[in-house]
Amino acid sequence: MRVLLIGPPGAGKGTQATRIAAHFDLARIATGDLLRREVASGSELGSTAKAYIDRGDLVPDELVIAMTRERVVKANSEGGYILDGYPRTLAQAEAAHRWAKARGVPFDLALFFEIGTEELLARLAGRAREEGRSDDTEDTVRHRLEVFRTRTYPLLDYYRRRGILVRIDAVGPVDAITERILAALHWHKANALAAGADRPEWAFGAAEG
Ligand code: ADP
Repeated sequence: MRVLLIGPPGAGKGTQATRIAAHFDLARIATGDLLRREVASGSELGSTAKAYIDRGDLVPDELVIAMTRERVVKANSEGGYILDGYPRTLAQAEAAHRWAKARGVPFDLALFFEIGTEELLARLAGRAREEGRSDDTEDTVRHRLEVFRTRTYPLLDYYRRRGILVRIDAVGPVDAITERILAALHWHKANALAAGADRPEWAFGAAEG
């Protein structure tokens, strides 16, 4: 199964991605974690990325695409993945679409984590206290929400047109949200099997360019 998670910072993608990946035995590919690892290792990519991350800006597409590509291609041949934090721009979505299409393995579902701004700000303030992430300060958080709205939000339309967008209410107890996601994924699995298709063509809609 190939699933991607779209949601603003603080929506709980990381927590849920870890749980879903364990449940279905899938690889979890989290670009934020990968980038922070690059920063910690002092690599060239890491030192370039750090300035963007600390400002709350997106790391340039070509860097993120290059970093993610091999992992997605590998996971494609090993039973699937949960993409957590990728794609965040239309250019990244197009790249992922090309990798998948070249191998005949389209995304199954794009899960959109729905949550209001006030709830996000409260959660991120809590995370800043607990984890001390350099990009969780209040100004940076507001900027990241704005970046989400302008750069990532258009992906909803992109995946809706492909018929694979599912909205998940991301407010409530963590376990309840996991249940909602598992229900959506099991429903999808059952329907894909019932249709006798493990390569659902409908994942590539008529709107495809
Ligand atoms: P959050 O979802 O809370 O913003 P992440 O750990 O997913 O946290 O991302 C942290 C930062 O890493 C982002 O603000 C951005 O600078 C960078 N980043 C992560 N994924 C991407 C991506 N796909 N494209 C560009 N930048 C990214």
